[in-house]
Amino acid sequence: MKKISYMELADFKAGFVAILGKPNVGKSTLMNRLIGEKLSIVTPKPQTTRMNIKGFLNTEKVQIVFLDTPGIIEPKYELHEKMMGYVNQSLKGADVVVHVFDGFETSPYPLLEGGGKTKPTICVLNKSDLCDKMELEEKKGLLAVKFDKVFCVSALHDKNLDDLVNGLISLLPYSPPLYNQDDLSDMPMRFFAQEIIREKIFLTYNDEIPYCSTVVVEKWSEEENRDVIQANIWIERDSQKPIVIGKNGDKIGKVRKHAEHDIALLTGRKAVLNLWVKVKYDWRKKYGALHEFGYR
Ligand code: GDP
Ligand code: MG
Repeated sequence: MKKISYMELADFKAGFVAILGKPNVGKSTLMNRLIGEKLSIVTPKPQTTRMNIKGFLNTEKVQIVFLDTPGIIEPKYELHEKMMGYVNQSLKGADVVVHVFDGFETSPYPLLEGGGKTKPTICVLNKSDLCDKMELEEKKGLLAVKFDKVFCVSALHDKNLDDLVNGLISLLPYSPPLYNQDDLSDMPMRFFAQEIIREKIFLTYNDEIPYCSTVVVEKWSEEENRDVIQANIWIERDSQKPIVIGKNGDKIGKVRKHAEHDIALLTGRKAVLNLWVKVKYDWRKKYGALHEFGYR
């Protein structure tokens, strides 16, 4: 861990920033851009993020601990309940709350319960690249009375993110760093590998498969210059197995190839992935299965 002198510590700022909002507004894209690394998986489909993903932005004088959260939805089954539990957890622990909206979303922009009143809260109007400038300015004006600060940004095109970071820093408490300043996250590589495989599932299959599947890394062997990783893809029905595997294994082969590529980007080592497809009937509705698959 980097040594910080007493004098430097005196004006060091650090804290937790929860990123909240509806599915698909760009929360994960935003966190990845802010920390400068793709930690949180991103797809065009809603409900890609299922847990809180922690990512650190470290500078000489600041450590921002971001929590990217699942999109806020009306829970329909046990997994959704868990997902909303993670959202509430992030809200409780946050020093600053960031509410992300699609800039082009039609008003009203509801304030989420418990978030807006008790903590410094920033409103981010994202996807400004897709919005009419005048309309955006108008919305910004209306929202300025409800939030401590409002920023119009494009996470995808890196627009106005510096202003957002400065706004965040101004609201953070003075504190020594909360985590190792050389790290990007305190979550294990095994977790990020699972997430990467899930992202490839979201990008490879249509309809139900992305939503009724989850991934568990069973074994991770570090060999001399490569990692050999065994992971299970859990689905809900036997009938889904041939869809996941595809004709002559072409679909699952695609998932494996793309996931191996992205895992290697993150670890800096070659990744060899063995994927197994397994069935746990209705796992999304079962407390025990959710626990077993890491949704705790
Ligand atoms: P989340 O569900 O809120 O985490 O949203 P994601 O980060 O997964 O993004 C959802 C989709 O919106 C993806 O296809 C992103 O590429 C896209 N997206 C995110 N930010 C922007 C942006 O600033 N502009 C545009 N045009 N698209 C964006
Ligand atoms: Mg997300």
